[in-house]
Amino acid sequence: MSRPILAQVNLAALKANVHVARERCPGAQLLAVVKANAYGHGLARILPALAETDGLALIELDAAVAMREQHYVRRLLLLEGFFAADELPEIANRRLAIVVHHMEQVRMLETTTLPRPLEVFVKVNTGMNRLGFRPDELRGVVERLSGATTVAALRLMTHFARADEDEGLHEQLQRFEDACKGLPYPRSLANSAGVIRFKEVGGDYVRPGIMLYGSSPFPYDTAEMLGLQPVMTLRSELIAVQEIKANESVGYGGGYTAARAHRIGVIACGYADGYPRHAPNGTPVLVCGKKVRTAGRVSMDLMTVDLTDVPEATVGSPVVLWGAGLPVDDVAAAASTVGYELLCAVAPRVPFVVTQFGRLDIEL
Ligand SMILES: *Cc1c(COP(=O)(O)O)cnc(C)c1O
Repeated sequence: MSRPILAQVNLAALKANVHVARERCPGAQLLAVVKANAYGHGLARILPALAETDGLALIELDAAVAMREQHYVRRLLLLEGFFAADELPEIANRRLAIVVHHMEQVRMLETTTLPRPLEVFVKVNTGMNRLGFRPDELRGVVERLSGATTVAALRLMTHFARADEDEGLHEQLQRFEDACKGLPYPRSLANSAGVIRFKEVGGDYVRPGIMLYGSSPFPYDTAEMLGLQPVMTLRSELIAVQEIKANESVGYGGGYTAARAHRIGVIACGYADGYPRHAPNGTPVLVCGKKVRTAGRVSMDLMTVDLTDVPEATVGSPVVLWGAGLPVDDVAAAASTVGYELLCAVAPRVPFVVTQFGRLDIEL
């Protein structure tokens, strides 16, 4: 038998989440954000569940090229555009759309010739202050790009820093409106939080990421409240059980000391599998479908839990680290991070299996 850890990807859940996103923004084109290998789920693996989307948005040129090689024909948008002019011929030949966020990119587009002109999403910095042109630069950029022989079509976009807050969202929306006033191009504003608030945000193209994978973009509304289902379930098993006495400690540095005698379950999962090492004592885990708490430091290949409440647990008992029955957002909150980071961090040594149907309780 092999080491029992595995990541199960539920394509039925992903399809259902796409449907939730669609219903929120009638009429908009939905570009599924699949950067970072589809937030750690594996782009090739999940592609069949994205049939109802209008295209994909990602960062990595090689992944976009691989999609075209597999005869993916819908829109592919590179969210950071290009980094050097020598990428442009490939981008043009593969019919990739690009974000342009910087003057240097504009200059490169003006001074090159391409086999076919590009679809360009011009990014406006409305307050995130990472990528994008200042609102007062936008008109000049649009003028230059609309005169460039390398540009076929223009769209206007922005990205929200605080789409989960009323104040932050409205300020950025207002700046975008002001910057784009009178410019007759389609627009793209919404990430997942913006999709859920589409009535306020609007736009012609939406770019949901995290919600498609079943994690909530908001700190207070849970995925379940938003009607989202977990796509990835990270599973393992107990591979040992220890009986500890009062005052005995567990793991490196004696990170947990028992107040009374109880059993400790040892799980085949550690930070080399992508589980966060900084998850403190008390982080939730499911053993035999019951919620238990970590007890002791997460190590490279193992982690330990308090089995007091699961007397039936034994070597071979099923464990869920996150996913079906235990929202990744709950684990992330306990570990002071976000679901995004946990999903993206699942390590290459973890085998993946795909399930097509809606059975979340499947026993493996
Ligand atoms: C990652 C990303 C998104 C998706 O954000 P989520 O919060 O995962 O929905 C949308 N737009 C841009 C520009 C991004 O980089």
